[in-house]
Amino acid sequence: MLSLHGAGVGSGIAIGTAYVVQRNTPEIPHYAIDEPEVDKETQRFRLAVDMARRELLKVKRDLPENAPSEVGTFIDAHLMMLDDPLISEMPIKTIRESKHNAEFALKEQADNLINVFEQMEDEYLRSKKTDVQQVVNRIQRELLNTEQANVDEINADADGQIIVTNDLTPADAVLLKQRDIKAFVTNLGGPISHTAILARSLRIPAIVGLHGAIRYIRHGELLIVDGKRGVIIVSPDAQTLAEYDQKQTKIETFRRELEQLRETPSVTLDGEAVSLMANVELPEDINEAQYVAADGVGLYRTEFLFMNRAEPPGEDEQYEVYTHIVETLKQPVTIRTLDIGADKQVDGGHADQHTITNPAMGLRAVRLCLSNPSLFRPQLRAILRASAHGDVQIMIPMISALHEVQQVLNLIAELKQELAEQNISFNKNILVGGMIEVPAAAIAADLFASKLDFLSIGTNDLIQYTLAIDRVNNEVNYLYDPLHPSVLRLIENTIRAADNAGIPVSMCGEMAGDVTYTKLLLGLGLRIFSMDPTNLLEVKRCVCESTAQTLRQAASNILCMTDIEALTKRVELLNQS
Ligand code: PEP
Ligand code: MG
Repeated sequence: MLSLHGAGVGSGIAIGTAYVVQRNTPEIPHYAIDEPEVDKETQRFRLAVDMARRELLKVKRDLPENAPSEVGTFIDAHLMMLDDPLISEMPIKTIRESKHNAEFALKEQADNLINVFEQMEDEYLRSKKTDVQQVVNRIQRELLNTEQANVDEINADADGQIIVTNDLTPADAVLLKQRDIKAFVTNLGGPISHTAILARSLRIPAIVGLHGAIRYIRHGELLIVDGKRGVIIVSPDAQTLAEYDQKQTKIETFRRELEQLRETPSVTLDGEAVSLMANVELPEDINEAQYVAADGVGLYRTEFLFMNRAEPPGEDEQYEVYTHIVETLKQPVTIRTLDIGADKQVDGGHADQHTITNPAMGLRAVRLCLSNPSLFRPQLRAILRASAHGDVQIMIPMISALHEVQQVLNLIAELKQELAEQNISFNKNILVGGMIEVPAAAIAADLFASKLDFLSIGTNDLIQYTLAIDRVNNEVNYLYDPLHPSVLRLIENTIRAADNAGIPVSMCGEMAGDVTYTKLLLGLGLRIFSMDPTNLLEVKRCVCESTAQTLRQAASNILCMTDIEALTKRVELLNQS
């Protein structure tokens, strides 16, 4: 029996056999060809491109009806790349002129292209090198005629098993879900990589970032995947298996019990109403948010609309998507403007970050949007137009300077004027809020509160920046501590600033959906929580069992504590009370 540790990204526990999928980048042979072989080699290359195209078309054709639209768009983008002469024609030129074999000619061209993408200033475009690599790998697999399975070729014999592989794209994750896969584990990827977020949203237990540990897992071996704790147990003994069987049954019973709270109002024992909202990333989350009767959407992460496609969605497409959410879910719907950049465009952890220094501190979120009006304006117009259909709020991510807020407010005012002149409806009084996720904004929360209609605390980034720990780097995960006194003080300061300014404050980072912190946050005065809908009922139960008045005193005592260990213990005690 062996335990492996990674980052758990999916909920629940899966017990099943390992289905190992080899997806390592193949060795590329390099040899010279003679003139008479040139035509044959060219032909071989064209055939490989054709086969890769057919394979992609088949994947697209076989997509289940309920697959998120992003997957189709993702495949379309790969099809377009495949047909681009830079990929489908340039290697032929190399074969003809330099007399290299097709695999090498393709590799050389791919290296050139990736190099060009890496030099790009625009982070969004730079991230596209991952797609180039994936398309090229597909052609290489055809050229090499490898026996290695593609994830999209995994057939029914994988059903009920646990996929073990080096890495997965988001599209792979969705396809695996359709194949009745129990869980997946990967070497690469961080807990908030695109694939990880999809896994969470698709309710597949998953563990990413095992750093090569999967070499210890053999095809057919029995595995336990504990998505919550990020642990895989290989070849468990009978006693461990029995323990996990029990844990699984307990989780199921617990879930069924929680379901009874769906219609229960979220109110503390002393009558304080607490709003429990949903974070939404994919269409699937809409169903889940409806199912748990969320009080609205506290965070709609629009970046998922922009990922895995050749072109960003236009104003009309965005308008339709936003309107659908507004008309389907309980309101308000808080639409966060594009938070792309840094790790957010990393596709399941594929992309190398060594070329970007401090990507999380780079041109991301509102910074990227303000520097790229052709991306930002259509999104703001689409959100404004959707506001004609219900209670929509605009939320600006990663604000760190007041002038950024002012620029966004000016732009919104300008776009309102433009829409009015065009006789297009929108809510003139739409609320505009900002995310407090950079320490500068949390420290000076009063200044930001005076400019905005609401604040929302993004603890994922706030903790990352406050404690200087890259949230996607597993090596420093152990330092990620929401109970660090500096984090708690920043949270408290933000809540107080919003209260003093008379505006609402919510929390939409992972901390809001983790029941370990619910009582403490209630004590700090938080009354709006937004989270992955799967966590909502558990948080509701905790709210309904709490007395806000008592928690206020306890939280204020905890804030004065300096010893982290003692503080953590005190929070544990609070949770047991
Ligand atoms: C956060 O930083 O807490 C947050 C909610 O935003 P994201 O996780 O999308 O960066
Ligand atoms: Mg954030």
